Amino acid sequence: MLLRLLLSCVLVSVAISTQAMTLYKSTDANGVVFFSDRQTPGAQAFVIQERRVERVRRPVLDVPTTKQAYRYPFPWRGGPFRLTQGPNGSFSHTDAKSRYAMDIAMPEGTPVIAARAGVVVKIGNDQLGRGPDPSGNFVRVQHDDGTQGVYLHLKQGSVSVRAGQRVAVGSPLALSGNTGNSSGPHLHFVVQRATEAGLVSIPYEFNLPVGTLPNFALGK
Ligand SMILES: [Zn+2]
Repeated sequence: MLLRLLLSCVLVSVAISTQAMTLYKSTDANGVVFFSDRQTPGAQAFVIQERRVERVRRPVLDVPTTKQAYRYPFPWRGGPFRLTQGPNGSFSHTDAKSRYAMDIAMPEGTPVIAARAGVVVKIGNDQLGRGPDPSGNFVRVQHDDGTQGVYLHLKQGSVSVRAGQRVAVGSPLALSGNTGNSSGPHLHFVVQRATEAGLVSIPYEFNLPVGTLPNFALGK
């Protein structure tokens, strides 16, 4: 009896420290799944535990949001240029594919170079102006850790790499442009990872603050 009492005390204290809560999952006649905190016949019960120390707002999607250890050198030559839209920018960095993208305003024709080594997996080079693809002309590079660096809105006909080609940090890829869904000459650079839900963008950082210095890091 004493043991049972002790045990229930332990259970209560665990529940308090982890904020446990029971939810019931049911499916209605139309196949719509919904959750409730009240039990209904046939509902599947499960306990959600949330530790108090981790009460941070999480992004809507279940994407890996840990920052990458790799810090990206600027994927352009010249500058300094300005960051015109950062991660979670309300203008267009709102969906899963572009949430953590950065837009850097730069004159059309600025050399765009690889910010990380990898293999080119896809390019677009034929689009003029807004065209059919919102990305405009682009280069997609698969990095060795499985992530992909994507360089968008490039100038028509300027892409100088092809799919299957290995590139090093600093390899010329194309010239910047203003193609696709672009409201002015800029480079949209995003790092993505393939998930079951499709490609999602992941946070990344440049190895210098944007706008501080011309990019002399590569000696070119
Ligand atoms: Zn952008």
